[in-house]
Amino acid sequence: MLDAARLRADFPLLQRQEHGRRLVYLDNAATTQKPQAVLDAILDYYRTTNANVHRGAYGLAIRATEAYEAARERVARFLNAWAPEGVVFTRGTTEAINLVAGAYGRANLRQGDMVVVTAMDHHSNLVPWQILCQEKGAVLRMVEITEDGRIDLSDYGQALERRPKIVAFPYVSNSLGTVNPAGQLIRLAHAVGAVVVVDGAQSTPHLRVDVQALDCDFYACSGHKMLGPMGSGALVAKPALLEAMPPYHGGGEMISKVWDDHSTYNKIPHKFEAGTPNVEGAVGLAAAIDYLERIGLEQIAEHEQALAKAAIERLSQIDGVVVYGPRGHRAGVVSFTYGDVHPHDIATILDQDGICIRAGHHCTQPLMRRLNVAATARASFYLYNSLEEVEALATSLVKAGALFGYVPA
Ligand code: PLP
Repeated sequence: MLDAARLRADFPLLQRQEHGRRLVYLDNAATTQKPQAVLDAILDYYRTTNANVHRGAYGLAIRATEAYEAARERVARFLNAWAPEGVVFTRGTTEAINLVAGAYGRANLRQGDMVVVTAMDHHSNLVPWQILCQEKGAVLRMVEITEDGRIDLSDYGQALERRPKIVAFPYVSNSLGTVNPAGQLIRLAHAVGAVVVVDGAQSTPHLRVDVQALDCDFYACSGHKMLGPMGSGALVAKPALLEAMPPYHGGGEMISKVWDDHSTYNKIPHKFEAGTPNVEGAVGLAAAIDYLERIGLEQIAEHEQALAKAAIERLSQIDGVVVYGPRGHRAGVVSFTYGDVHPHDIATILDQDGICIRAGHHCTQPLMRRLNVAATARASFYLYNSLEEVEALATSLVKAGALFGYVPA
């Protein structure tokens, strides 16, 4: 396992206390903490390089542009993108998926066409498709999940028989921790001519991702879930698809020539980056990638899987606790309920012990309905978490249960 104590020392916020207790941060699926290296990169950018990009003739603006474009190349290398021009900086996964739905979807979907999503999709990979299908008179088909929280491959096959135009799914589920067989799902979708959109919000921070090996068409990710700044992220796409797409937002940067009544557009990726971009976000994201790669994505994945396994084993021993999602290979996300104790009560009580977990529907309301719960509590791990923190979670949970009359087994 990784030396979590040593890594933790790199994160200033994790040195703080909550309610006088050592902070145990287990809400990494929502957002991660930032290492000093990322904070330094952002500060250094503002101290030495800040100017608006792509339009300055002076040295400072040229260096700011170089820093921004170097960050794009860093993201491209990290995900093995087809080309740096295939990396569009966005505010995160949500904006990336809205971009695909709003630009590719609007241009290519016709009345009666089908878009396929799954019952475990985050609202970010569902609502944009709902809006698009409503606008176009297209059909939205939701693929069901199995009892143990995986995509139901037989239902997926049936959905593909209708030859959908677009298939969208999460590589890793933020509520269940399921690692979907992305390569297989993409091959099957391509075989019927669909374009595939992968929601990589929960895979990019935790797995080694190679978009060319996956052969998806669009891949969306969020910087803040992988040690980077809030409001950073990217859409990674096959360049030919981006070339053929109409723009998403209009404004500065994305144009080539502007006349009174029409415009021509900039080349990719700038065609999709209207207005002043989040340069600080891109620079911070590149620093986060450097940090992650120094540790190794494979090591991070192994570490989280060990923590998830320990958490599932430990929580399952507590009478009344139900853990959701697949057993065996899965990501470091553990959703659970504890008898009839409301997950918000669990989270509030754990907070008194300095433990941060999430409670709610995790932006997956259709999934919650299928699990027959309104909400779950969710612990999600990252590289700075340890087995001691899993134990602290379990101990605090037993204490919370006792307050509601649950007797420890
Ligand atoms: N998709 C999944 C699976 C997520 O977990 C999240 C965030 O929790 C998102 C999409 C949305 O990411 P963001 O809010 O960074 O755009």
